[in-house]
Amino acid sequence: MATLTSTGGWLTDAAKRELRETARAIVAPGKGLLAADESTGTMGKRFANIGVENTEENRRRYRQLLFTCDKSMTNSISGAILFHETLYQKTDSGTPFVKLLTDMGIVPGIKVDKGVVLLAGTNSETTTQGMDDLGKRCKQYYDDGARFAKWRCVLKIGEHTPSPVAILENANVLARYASTCQQNGLVPIVEPEVLPDGTHDLARCQTVSEKVLAAVYKALSDHHVYLEGTLLKPNMVTPGMECPDRSSYKPEDIALATVTALQRTMPAAVPGVTFLSGGQSEEEASRNLNAINQLDANKPWALTFSYGRALQASTLAAWKGKDELLKAGQEAFLKRATINGQAAAGKYNPEGASGNAAGESLHVANHMY
Ligand code: 13P
Repeated sequence: MATLTSTGGWLTDAAKRELRETARAIVAPGKGLLAADESTGTMGKRFANIGVENTEENRRRYRQLLFTCDKSMTNSISGAILFHETLYQKTDSGTPFVKLLTDMGIVPGIKVDKGVVLLAGTNSETTTQGMDDLGKRCKQYYDDGARFAKWRCVLKIGEHTPSPVAILENANVLARYASTCQQNGLVPIVEPEVLPDGTHDLARCQTVSEKVLAAVYKALSDHHVYLEGTLLKPNMVTPGMECPDRSSYKPEDIALATVTALQRTMPAAVPGVTFLSGGQSEEEASRNLNAINQLDANKPWALTFSYGRALQASTLAAWKGKDELLKAGQEAFLKRATINGQAAAGKYNPEGASGNAAGESLHVANHMY
């Protein structure tokens, strides 16, 4: 019988050390990720809300706004996930975004999946594509300055979903992706998102999240992925967006359900969790993260944020595409970044902190990224 390969045993010690150090830097205390890897189509939707045309130049101007914020943002932002186009863009004065971020101490990352595709014969369930040339792309991205990657899989809660085939297929493709990233020096952020769409209650989301995460870590083990050099980007365990008594759940309930699901499924070898915001309002996402970090429980991992919508909604609303509102946009971004940094340390005091945009739901049905 063939000898079993140990977890990460196929990597050199130097490669393991580098992956471990990148992962640890991303989840350093009180810091988290800015997910700015919206695809061109998704940026179009964000821009449509503020009346901005979806051109390459406007996308560059917007990302420049984010990346040229005051250096104090590095107190709470450890890394930024970029879309392919953004990785190769520059500031007005010609500095590549990757250099700008790296010089500030913000680790550049790259979205490497190519979106979801239907699993035929299922109830509209999906897997995620992008495996074919992934090794080649990861190598190139590493050479071009990226140090971590993201791949998003999507699971849906319904009466008969997620199905066993969707759970298994998505877990396996996440493991293949993670292994391919590690072969090329990139820390894989493993993202199995259980969508918040539906009328289900908190307990159902917890059950589904546990089953999905258990399958993901079984697949990562099967593929000999070096867990110390990975991060998990899960949904928080929440009631469905259409759950009739959604508002009766407190951040403490969400924190307990989320941490319990992680305790039951996620190895202590993984350095940290960077939660997605999943359509929660900016305030909800901050308060829930704060409650998760305040929960008195066994939590052997860092628990922080990798928010897209919940870090950018007020920024986009304040900026509106106008140069004269650039500072207003940056101030809005710094405010949310600071609050989420505090929440990642369990030190956010939300008294009277909620502005209008911050309280608005950012839910998009059947969300594509
Ligand atoms: P949201 O925080 O908007 O859910 O997005 C984060 C992300 O990167 C999803 O893939």
